Amino acid sequence: MTPQLTDKYMVTIAERLTSAYVRIIKAAKNAQRNSNEITLLAVSKTKPCEDIITAYEHGQRQFGESYVQEAVDKIAQLQPYSDIIWHFIGPIQSNKSALVATNFDWVQSVDRIKIAKRLNSQRPDNKPPLNILIQVNISNEEAKSGCHLDEIDELADYISQCEYLTLRGLMAIPAKSDKLETQTQYFKQLQTCFDKLKTQYPHIDTLSMGMSGDVEAAISAGSTMVRIGTDIFGTRT
Ligand SMILES: *Cc1c(COP(=O)(O)O)cnc(C)c1O
Repeated sequence: MTPQLTDKYMVTIAERLTSAYVRIIKAAKNAQRNSNEITLLAVSKTKPCEDIITAYEHGQRQFGESYVQEAVDKIAQLQPYSDIIWHFIGPIQSNKSALVATNFDWVQSVDRIKIAKRLNSQRPDNKPPLNILIQVNISNEEAKSGCHLDEIDELADYISQCEYLTLRGLMAIPAKSDKLETQTQYFKQLQTCFDKLKTQYPHIDTLSMGMSGDVEAAISAGSTMVRIGTDIFGTRT
């Protein structure tokens, strides 16, 4: 018989958060990088506000959400935690762009001009410009969001001219693979795009790649932001 899971054996969010940091530090060391260059984004989608507060109380400040309505409700409830930095990382439908423009600090999933245009016109002008990452469909999956590699330049050019948007870099979710080699290959491709973009926009500073399953490969390829959900908050149902 399997033993009952009791509190004694439950790993807390605080412990998992610490493990996530340890993992980043180790991966950075292996890649001969400074771990201070890498931000941990805690992906709290589908998880209750209590879990976010627990992570907050253990020092976490940057959180990622994927579903607009769920996120907007949570952001409203968590208003007292005014130094939380909210990142939108999910697909954006046109009819939800105003909610995204109003409630978030970052949007990592901009993959077409139409959405950039809407976010720019809908960003309240009493707020700082919205930080934008261009999402790239690096492994060219049919069903995935993200622009194609050859669309990055046009989109970057558009965003850089938007008064209420600040281009900060690139984001990708490559096809799932258990092989470190395959993961690294995709991440290196994105790193090349990022380096190229940076020659034209020297202020860009964020390469968002790496999730619970591929943090090491992402960090070895220059990731500056890893987005971790499951390893911090547990599996999602
Ligand atoms: C859900 C999600 C994550 C977190 O994935 P985990 O495997 O749970 O760490 C990261 N990035 C994006 C864009 C996501 O939608």
